[in-house]
Formats: sequence, structure tokens, C-alpha cells
Amino acid sequence: MTWVITRLCRDCIDQGCVEVCPVDCIYAYNGDDNSTFPNQLYIDPEECINCGVCEPECPWEAIFEDEQVPSVFAEDTQLNAKILDDKDSFAVPEVEEKPKPSPQDIEANKAKWGYSA
Ligand code: SF4
Ligand code: SF4
Repeated sequence: MTWVITRLCRDCIDQGCVEVCPVDCIYAYNGDDNSTFPNQLYIDPEECINCGVCEPECPWEAIFEDEQVPSVFAEDTQLNAKILDDKDSFAVPEVEEKPKPSPQDIEANKAKWGYSA
């Protein structure tokens, strides 16, 4: 099992998750194929120790255990795993804190991706 960062992270990237991960398995993409790897962070499923510490740190509620990933985000599980195909293009990012989203921001982001919860 692993945890998965879904597209609810896209363009947020405040990286609260990165700071708490005990095994540094949350990565940013540094390559130029952004149609394959959009602007979000990714969890390496082979390094994740399934501790769940990152999940409550994500203000956008973007992180799920793989078995709990909502069906509208099913492709994101594969996309996190796909980083293994090009791991040299990924690195643990420098943490850059951003203002936290409001409850309205969080709901609007979910609605943008067709998710309600
Ligand atoms: S805290 Fe959440 S939204 Fe921010 S970078 Fe991590 S997964 Fe993405
Ligand atoms: S579940 Fe734990 S090991 Fe896996 S990405 Fe989150 S903090 Fe890191």
C-alpha cells in the first residue's frame, strides 16, 4: 500500500506534506514534460512507508490512501507510480510555505475537479 497525491494538489504546492514525510518520498517534477507530469507533487509508492502523516498536513485535502482514492481521481494513483519511469527527473523540493486556503477555496478546488466530499 501507499498514499497518493491527487490532482487536488495541482498548482497549490505549499509543501506542508514534504516537511513531515519521515522518509522523504514526496517529490516534485523537474523535467519539461508537463503534459505527462503536471504541476503537483508525487509520492513514490516504493518508498512510502504508509504512515499517513502527510495526509492531515495537506490544506487542500489532496492526499489519500491508495485504497481510498476517489474514483474521479483513479488515474492519479497510476500517475504517482509513473514517476518511477523517470525518477532522475524528480527531487524532493525545497519547502516554500504559502497562505492556507479558506474552506471556500478548498471546496471550489474540489468542484473544479468534479469531486464533492
Ligand atoms: S500539502 Fe497537499 S496541496 Fe500542498 S504540496 Fe502537499 S499534497 Fe500538494
Ligand atoms: S504516508 Fe508517510 S511515508 Fe508515505 S508519503 Fe505520506 S508521510 Fe511520506
